[in-house]
Amino acid sequence: MTRTPDPSFLQSVNLMFDRAAAVLDLPPGLAELIKACNSVYKVTFPVKVRGRIQTFTGWRAVHSEHRLPVKGGIRYAYPVDQEEVEALAALMTYKCAIVNVPFGGSKGALSIEPRDYTEDELERITRRFATELIKHDFLSPAENVPAPDMGTSPREMAWIADTYRTLRPNDMNAIACVTGKPVAQGGLPGRLEATGRGVQYVLRELFRHPEDVAAAGLSGTLEGKRVIIQGLGNVGYHAAKFLAEEDGARITAIIERDGALVCDGGLDVESVKAHLSEHGGVAGFTGTGIEFVPDGAKVLESAGDILIPAALQGVINHENAPRIQAPLIAEAANGPLTYRADQFLRAQGRLIIPDLLCNAGGVVVSYFEWTKNISHMRFGRLERRLEERRGDNIMAAIEAAGGNPVPAELAGRLKSGASELDLVRSGLDDAMREAYGEIRNVWRSRKNVDDLRTAAFVIAIEKVALSYTDMGVWP
Ligand code: NAD
Repeated sequence: MTRTPDPSFLQSVNLMFDRAAAVLDLPPGLAELIKACNSVYKVTFPVKVRGRIQTFTGWRAVHSEHRLPVKGGIRYAYPVDQEEVEALAALMTYKCAIVNVPFGGSKGALSIEPRDYTEDELERITRRFATELIKHDFLSPAENVPAPDMGTSPREMAWIADTYRTLRPNDMNAIACVTGKPVAQGGLPGRLEATGRGVQYVLRELFRHPEDVAAAGLSGTLEGKRVIIQGLGNVGYHAAKFLAEEDGARITAIIERDGALVCDGGLDVESVKAHLSEHGGVAGFTGTGIEFVPDGAKVLESAGDILIPAALQGVINHENAPRIQAPLIAEAANGPLTYRADQFLRAQGRLIIPDLLCNAGGVVVSYFEWTKNISHMRFGRLERRLEERRGDNIMAAIEAAGGNPVPAELAGRLKSGASELDLVRSGLDDAMREAYGEIRNVWRSRKNVDDLRTAAFVIAIEKVALSYTDMGVWP
């Protein structure tokens, strides 16, 4: 590849959008309307930390309000800037459209290295940031609903929800101002795992189509496939854990900030996660056949079947793209491939499951959580016991018809109504499979569309365009 630099994250997202828009016959100006970021709020605020006033800068970008509320995580990272937040907000608009979640797109960030602060300091900083967002109408259940992203977790969401409730005590939907909360504080079982679980579900769906597996130069099932994961945070950990424990995939490499662990026989994800949580890195983790590689980025390029970048944007770029070996790339992170890397790897025949689809599980389950919060009722409350009774009746009918007693294990399954977690996983699986199916259809059937990313953008643009037409914004 030539030495021209990579486009920025935002430019990459827009170039990918343009590539898809060119396939569509949109009225002049509509693509520009959809692509533009509606508004960005930038805030600088002081917090006293260890006896000294420190100034923090944060952003909340609203990309599209074609549906309300707008939705998107809050990232705590250093460095971070407005362009990055705008790129992430745009991805949220397209992602929500792809998985048929009725939200517009938004994203927020605070420029902070969270590891440098104590829990108490982070709480005060988060509450102050939330207060600023609430005061300026960038956070409310009806208009703008954040969720966790890199560097934030259910803990931060609980602080945000509590701040909102304190400032707006009369809002009966206050708890729906943010998703990804702890389950005990209005959250939903299955939200924490949702993004990684979604990565698993979309990979499973791809492997249900042998011709798609062949398009990636692979064959068979997920069983035994060699998986390279970058980033063992929320998304990477859950994806790796479920693929290894439930699908028999081999996690042959885990790349973290301080280096990578490589093991051909497969790494035990739980043990590596426990080590990472205790020591802040993967260095020092040992075991039979495990090698520590200090230059983690190099391991992205190593041989494997599935590469899952689950950390940062731009990690696969024009420099290292020619050395990437994995035939199938599942973008669990947002924007891990630059536009140039994407163009290069597409031309090489690699199959890339784009971030727009691959990591959309988080927002799908956030939608369930928001719906539960505004309906003030848990999922399954009305039908769970009815399902149990129906199971009893089916067993009684089988036995009355002269059948043998139903074996205890099967009877147990028949008799138990779905739990909230069962329902959430079922809804997530449905959303991911349906979205993959729609994208695959466009990929397989439309002229000028020869990759999953362009197909995903085509669908997103068409859906957003349609909602502008429905609203009468566009003739
Ligand atoms: P996280 O903060 O929980 O985890 C990120 C992990 O990446 C950490 O373990 C960190 O140590 C590691 N990391 C950071 N820099 C690295 C580097 N240079 N090399 C290797 N590892 C590195 O974040 P997360 O919530 O898991 O988010 C990861 C990605 O997934 C982000 O791009 C985020 O936008 C995207 N995403 C997250 C969600 C969600 O629900 N959390 C939803 C959709 C998309």
